[in-house]
Amino acid sequence: MTEAFGESHEGIVGAVLSDGSEPQPVYLDVGSGSGSGCRTGEWWAYDGQMGRPKGASYRAACACGWRGESYPIDWKQADDSGLQDIDTSRPHIDWVDHIHCVERRTVPLPDEISETLGRLEEQLTRLAEQAPATALKAVATLERLTRDVGREAASAAEADELSPKTIGQALGISPGRARSRLAGYLLAR
Ligand SMILES: [Zn+2]
Repeated sequence: MTEAFGESHEGIVGAVLSDGSEPQPVYLDVGSGSGSGCRTGEWWAYDGQMGRPKGASYRAACACGWRGESYPIDWKQADDSGLQDIDTSRPHIDWVDHIHCVERRTVPLPDEISETLGRLEEQLTRLAEQAPATALKAVATLERLTRDVGREAASAAEADELSPKTIGQALGISPGRARSRLAGYLLAR
């Protein structure tokens, strides 16, 4: 399901500081000075080491700006038995609930279309295993079809003056993503 929403609703378990604020992403140098570090906002990075702030609690954080309930971090348990033993299932459940909410606000597909798409996926998956060349021919046809229909729907949305916000909500993505997706369909040749 998350695939459908892509980067618009990417979720992490983020940190909250003791004053209730959310810390900036931190840079973790994993390669001991070799520059092979990474920037992260995951809660476990806020351990108070190397000048990083210490997190007081963790909560689900979504790329769309949504935040879940905060749960206190038991650093003693983390120190005693290791980070991997800390149970972060509650923020994960919160985030899945959030995704369901987003899903419910999107436009429903007509049953007939859903069923046809589901059947098509089954048939093509089978074909890909049994007759790859035939499956590739079907894929090429589908690519042309989605390009044409995408362009047609995007022009119609433009003619109807649907705002990126409306389209974004219908698709469960941000207005910015909706705008660039429409532009992509309109430009596709
Ligand atoms: Zn979200």
